[in-house]
Amino acid sequence: MKPIIERGPEGGYAVGKIDWLLNLARRHSVWYLLFGTACCAIELMQTGGPRSDADRFGMVFRSTPRQADVLVLAGTITYKMASRIRLLYDQMAEPKYVIAMGSCANTGGLFQDSYSVVNGGDLFLPVDVYIPGCPPRPESLIEGLMLIQHKMEKEPWLKKAWGKLPPKKDPKLPKDGDL
Ligand code: SF4
Repeated sequence: MKPIIERGPEGGYAVGKIDWLLNLARRHSVWYLLFGTACCAIELMQTGGPRSDADRFGMVFRSTPRQADVLVLAGTITYKMASRIRLLYDQMAEPKYVIAMGSCANTGGLFQDSYSVVNGGDLFLPVDVYIPGCPPRPESLIEGLMLIQHKMEKEPWLKKAWGKLPPKKDPKLPKDGDL
């Protein structure tokens, strides 16, 4: 069923599948965690500023993992910080997403051969989107966040939840204890 959105002088309405309505709300309120480990974090901060204005897409930063949907791995990840990042990820509520921003978060970048650097965030977290660059520009991060929005758009939450319910019992079949 194709969703219908009508706007009028006294308000509007939307008619669609519940999954679509839920995802419409979710995709327009992508809150990312304000956290970074190196220079890419400066670009992350700039993305929330007036020039890039991520707010226009409903993307705002949160300073607590408990209210964030997206963890952006912004910067070089040392082994020392990896356990802290994992802790932040575990504190985020489901459903949650991860973006690896920049060469360091993707592969270890310039510091790949260093004894102290993790060669990519996907070695300890499920990364959804990889953004290349050193550092990537705010526009690239916005594009990465928009890819997360597209992913959210297609998620069948109700279908998944109903899939977990026990099958309906046929009243004509014998019940436990009848035999
Ligand atoms: S990718 Fe480049 S800018 Fe980003 S953290 Fe690594 S060295 Fe810094």
